[in-house]
Amino acid sequence: MTIDLEQNIQYLKGVGPTKSVLLNKLGIFTIRDLMEYYPRVYEDRTKLKSISEFVNDKQALFIATVVAPIKVQRIRKNLVIYSTIVSDDTGVCKMTWYNQTYIKTKLVEGEAYLFYGKVDLGRSRASIDSAFIYNVKDLDKIQGIYPIYPLTAGITQNYLFKLENEIYESDILVTDIFSDEFRKRYSLAEVNYAMRNVHFPKDFNAINVARNRIIFEELFLFQLALMSIKNSGIGVKKTSVYQDIDLRPFLNLLPFELTNAQKKVVLEIKKDLTSDRVMNRLVQGDVGSGKTMVAALAMYMAVKNGYQATMMAPTTILASQHFDELSKYFERLGVSTALITSSTTKKNKREIIEKLKNNEINILIGTHSLIEDDIEFYNLGMVITDEQHRFGVKQRMKLSAKGNTVETLVMTATPIPRTLAIILYGDLDLSIIDEMPPGRSPVITAVRDEGSEDKINHFLKSQINEGRQIYVVCPLVEENEELDLKSVEVLYDRYKNDIFREYEVEFLHGKMKNKEKDEIMQRFKENKINILISTTVIEVGISVSNATVMVIENADRFGLAALHQLRGRVGRGKYQSYCILKSSNKSVNARERLKIMEKSNSGFDIAEKDLELRGPGDFFGIRQSGMPEFKLANLLTDASILKSSQEAAKEVIMNDKNLEREEHKKIKEALLQKFGEQLNNIAT
Ligand code: ADP
Ligand code: MG
Repeated sequence: MTIDLEQNIQYLKGVGPTKSVLLNKLGIFTIRDLMEYYPRVYEDRTKLKSISEFVNDKQALFIATVVAPIKVQRIRKNLVIYSTIVSDDTGVCKMTWYNQTYIKTKLVEGEAYLFYGKVDLGRSRASIDSAFIYNVKDLDKIQGIYPIYPLTAGITQNYLFKLENEIYESDILVTDIFSDEFRKRYSLAEVNYAMRNVHFPKDFNAINVARNRIIFEELFLFQLALMSIKNSGIGVKKTSVYQDIDLRPFLNLLPFELTNAQKKVVLEIKKDLTSDRVMNRLVQGDVGSGKTMVAALAMYMAVKNGYQATMMAPTTILASQHFDELSKYFERLGVSTALITSSTTKKNKREIIEKLKNNEINILIGTHSLIEDDIEFYNLGMVITDEQHRFGVKQRMKLSAKGNTVETLVMTATPIPRTLAIILYGDLDLSIIDEMPPGRSPVITAVRDEGSEDKINHFLKSQINEGRQIYVVCPLVEENEELDLKSVEVLYDRYKNDIFREYEVEFLHGKMKNKEKDEIMQRFKENKINILISTTVIEVGISVSNATVMVIENADRFGLAALHQLRGRVGRGKYQSYCILKSSNKSVNARERLKIMEKSNSGFDIAEKDLELRGPGDFFGIRQSGMPEFKLANLLTDASILKSSQEAAKEVIMNDKNLEREEHKKIKEALLQKFGEQLNNIAT
């Protein structure tokens, strides 16, 4: 029998309309989806045991005869217990099922069955709850390594097992996208072998071989997609090489000297720019390490070479802050700058667009507004994205597409664990600013519960009385701005009308107009506000060196990386700064997680731990980056496959940029099948 892979699951034998709705919930819509619905773990059912060999708390597969009538006990309305005794030559075992009406008719006294379940060795005899029951003649099918699938209500292990089996009994053949030679080169199993053995492995080694192949393909295709949408590509030659620029005029204006780490990174950028390949560089540096200045120097080099440069930041507040800080230097260097955000007036915007086209603006700083179609440059030569983790790859690409061969610099303060960096920024060279500007002492961090409220407030007052300022951040209640606003307002009310009556308290919220937000931020900068209450809109980039305390309410609701970002808002000046993590969550897990913040000031350590604790799916920022959830690959444990698949993808792309060669035909088809829509979006 032949089955079409793209056929709706509904028409597979044993499915039908009702079950198909449930399968859809698991993401299974087609036969292919079902094939690619992989087991979470495997159970070892290879050995048939006798009752005397049972081990407490371990699963056992055994054949035994029902030696007592089926007892039915109605405990209460929703609970009926069915139980009986079974025995083999070596012993007896009590079997119990809950609410399984069919037991009464299924089991017949005096008959033997094949059972599988977890053993409880009580004082007197063994017992098993909710064992699986099979016919003895099915032993062949059941004995072996048994796949355990993630389930949803109404779909059982047995049911999925049967469906998967249905497909594999049908002799379906999948075409391998890899040639024999390719598979040999990267030690990959053939696809049909892999698919069969991931569901019905013949032994544990076969599982590894199968998984390895499937994970490789998954990661390979994803990376190939990434590489082919990055129009900059790998090692693209540029049309004209940059002249080396004397940076002293700029550096002389700064009130400080660059740190060694900053100097090193500036040099790396300079090397890129003066080489014959287009720059694709990621600058990672912990919060407060001074990335903005590095970006400014890069833009200066672009401008001095006759190009325009642009820098995109994720929020209006941050974009304005960059503009304020940098335009004052650029002005004195004769470089013209402009700012464009969603709060730029129409008239102002029209003016900027005009000037931009005429090359009267050298540097344009802004938010997502930069991506809009009506923003056209005269000769855009450099694109910088700040806080890259807040943007998707697509947005970066779209901005780059406004120039010809564009030098790219992406900056992030969320240190991304190595494995994730490979995936998200696989084609980028990495620069690390691993040094803080001098005179900064680490932020003192403390986790406190509600019992410390009075002490904390007392401390806050003493800081304000010394002239310092405070941030108070509360978590997003949900992705609902109305509700979030409410939680900020409640907190504001408590501070403003009660505890801190005699102080200036203000609040900031994502739902406010940009103009309002900017005004409040401005007043905060001028120290006209003592306490600023906010949601995470202040999370990224904001720099007010007089602010010394960051209080985070319900801190356990944040990821560690986000907490580290928030903490980075203080400790930016010469004063000792503090971060108070409030949490009344008593769970050991939550406590332990927050304690990491007390111990570590390194964003890298924290990011690694965060990834470990929460898994890659939830890792800060990944969702926004449009990263797919992988079906089988695990970014924590599959780093080595990630690397080899990346090498393979690079090699393919370098030799055959548009995948036109015959041997890449199937790869291209698979790529379009999986990522088609995204690839098209980018290409325009
Ligand atoms: P981030 O890396 O988090 O983006 P910023 O670029 O905002 O950090 O820099 C944080 C603060 O440090 C800014 O006020 C900036 O002016 C200042 N700064 C940057 N470089 C230096 C330096 N070499 N010495 C002293 N201060 C610096
Ligand atoms: Mg920054």
